[in-house]
Amino acid sequence: MTQRVQTLIVGAGQAGLALSRCLTRTGHDHIILERGLVGQRWRSERWDSFRLLTPNWYNRLPGWEYTGHDPDGFMDRREVISWFERYAESFDAPVRTGVSVSDVYRADHGWSVHTDAGRFDADNVVIASGHYDRAQVPQVAQTLPRRTHQLHSRRYRNPARIPPGGVLVVGAGPSGQQIADELARAGRRVFLSVGRHRPLPRRYRGRDVYYWMDRSGMLDRTVDTLPDPLAAQQAPSVVLAGEPENLDLRRMVRNGVVPVGRMEGIDGEEFRFAADLPERLHEADDNVRRIRAAVDRYVARTGLHVPEEPFAPTRTEPWVVGAPRRLHLLHDGINTVIWATGFSRDFSWIHAPVFHAQGDPVQHRGVTAAEGLYFLGLRWMHRRESNFIGGVGGDAEYLAQRLSGVRDLRAVG
Ligand SMILES: Cc1cc2nc3c(=O)[nH]c(=O)nc-3n(C[C@H](O)[C@H](O)[C@H](O)COP(=O)(O)OP(=O)(O)OC[C@H]3O[C@@H](n4cnc5c(N)ncnc54)[C@H](O)[C@@H]3O)c2cc1C
Repeated sequence: MTQRVQTLIVGAGQAGLALSRCLTRTGHDHIILERGLVGQRWRSERWDSFRLLTPNWYNRLPGWEYTGHDPDGFMDRREVISWFERYAESFDAPVRTGVSVSDVYRADHGWSVHTDAGRFDADNVVIASGHYDRAQVPQVAQTLPRRTHQLHSRRYRNPARIPPGGVLVVGAGPSGQQIADELARAGRRVFLSVGRHRPLPRRYRGRDVYYWMDRSGMLDRTVDTLPDPLAAQQAPSVVLAGEPENLDLRRMVRNGVVPVGRMEGIDGEEFRFAADLPERLHEADDNVRRIRAAVDRYVARTGLHVPEEPFAPTRTEPWVVGAPRRLHLLHDGINTVIWATGFSRDFSWIHAPVFHAQGDPVQHRGVTAAEGLYFLGLRWMHRRESNFIGGVGGDAEYLAQRLSGVRDLRAVG
């Protein structure tokens, strides 16, 4: 039996829920189909000790914000899940869990959505299936011997679940660095392959970096003001951890992590790494300098009274120049490889000519050229914060206004 609905949303993460909250306020007929449970990624694709990188005060969705006792803290995985569950309950979100969408086709009057629970016809379909969707692992991973345990960072849970022996973590983005740090603290021998990465200071001049980015308008910056939007969309995620301290490669080395350069390939049992660690570290330090300079300019412009914080000159440490160029699975005792190599998306289930050659949708503020087909929650979709918990709400409000025809959502609460 086919069911009919005005707007069908795919995915009950923050994006789908934020839109649903706005549509509920306007009385617009809609449902959300979710293959797992509400906030599924935070349940099945984050490690046990995970904490959000964004401070509690910044995590806000339409009609919902953090109301606990620690606005400057960082929610852990369980708190995040419960926060999303309570959000969905707060407006009785029309979520159907355990329903997987397999295909979306253009139909005579709107869209035909095929699922494992039957077919739905909808005037509008909003794809909120997540920017960080598919695990991206280099092809060369397939050449590793079968005895080597390998997994993508989204399947990592805790050190006890990793077989005994050394670990090579490939990728020094926020996930790679946090996982390497946790494993080293648990007494594991850890190598970390470091490519381009963009660390941010957790705090600067007495405030969290999100305070500065929020206040100075950095998070609000729109994609149409960027000289190279594609480069921004593909840039590595910023490196931060949900704790007051910096996630710092130098500190990790003191905890026993051995950094190596970008992985170039695997020859049988041996990994090859580029000799680029000094450049990568230099770039990373430059990134920190740039954000500090931007904050300094903002402070000078606004006359805020905050303490100065001089930048300690960075030294070229011996481990940077002497980093190994090769590691051997057997000789270096590596039993596990964790691919912290990022995510991609696969929209091949959406049968509409709205995609770039690289596979991402051509859209403006989530609106595509195919009438009634929308996206939400993509990185830099409209603003820098479009795929953050605290930022998706603005895009959701915009789409809700288009879908429901209500000009001012605030007028309906
Ligand atoms: C490791 C990591 C840490 C992050 N930390 C932060 C942070 O601290 N703060 C922050 O603001 N942002 C953070 N982000 C970014 C962002 O908030 C998350 O990626 C968030 O999960 C995005 O929410 P979303 O609703 O857009 O997508 P998702 O959370 O990915 O939700 C999409 C939903 O769609 C469902 N779905 C997908 N395909 C289908 C289908 N075919 N049929 C039915 N259902 C489907 C999925 O099960 C999922 O529940 C982090 C991202 C990652 C990867």
